[in-house]
Amino acid sequence: MKILSNPHTHSTFVDGKNTIEEMANQAFELGFVSLGFSEHAQQVIDGAFGLTAETENAYIAEVNRLKSVYDGRMKIWRGLERDRLSPADKTKYEYILGANHYLTAENGEWAAVDGDADRLENWVKTHADGDWMKAAAQYFEASAAYIEAIQPDIIAHFDLLCKGNRKRHWYDESAKAYLDAGKAAMERMIKVCNVLEVNTGGIARSNQPCPYPILPLLSFWHMIGGEVIPSSDCHRAHQLNAWFDETPEYLKSAGFDHMLRLGTGKELFEEVKL
Ligand SMILES: [Zn+2]
Ligand SMILES: [Zn+2]
Repeated sequence: MKILSNPHTHSTFVDGKNTIEEMANQAFELGFVSLGFSEHAQQVIDGAFGLTAETENAYIAEVNRLKSVYDGRMKIWRGLERDRLSPADKTKYEYILGANHYLTAENGEWAAVDGDADRLENWVKTHADGDWMKAAAQYFEASAAYIEAIQPDIIAHFDLLCKGNRKRHWYDESAKAYLDAGKAAMERMIKVCNVLEVNTGGIARSNQPCPYPILPLLSFWHMIGGEVIPSSDCHRAHQLNAWFDETPEYLKSAGFDHMLRLGTGKELFEEVKL
């Protein structure tokens, strides 16, 4: 089977390298049946990584324009990637990706888990006694609380914390304490959102060995009855279907016999057999 849809697409409105139109054209050329834009919401901190009040309106208008350009040929959805630290007006969007990109301390100090590795390392030294299991537990706990609070349509890159770990080897991703912290968060999240993104973006962009989440966590998500939707978290048009040929096997190895994709009609999701 071929994956012909992507629910997690960025553009030049924030940190993507191609315009909304270039992304849509590429998707159509690949034979996609649906495409969802999910620009980064306005941010409380780290403002450069989010829309502004002005660009948010322009983003919505441009997605709406492309929706009509492709009407009847490829369904385009107007979404938003909302971070734990980004308030957003959900009513402007057809779907929300809920994401956690940060570790935060009580005194307000923060570090992006997918950003500067030195800064993250320092944060863990200062606020988690240098203990990565403690930091991971805090990350997963904060993610679960956030998903419970906003009840998004899709949970984005669940274990993004491991991005820097692949280069720096801070902790063992198969450690029981690490997996238990992830599983505990999943058990809370599934009660309010049962659609988890399987995100291949890191494979294309930063040489990650596998999608988020890692297989043991994905298998657990399957075991507790969760659904999955593959995404390329795309920032460049030519990577729109990155690792999509390999993804069905990855999903099957976690126990799935079907996946979701963004719908081609009125329903947000439709089921596809693997
Ligand atoms: Zn993200
Ligand atoms: Zn993203």
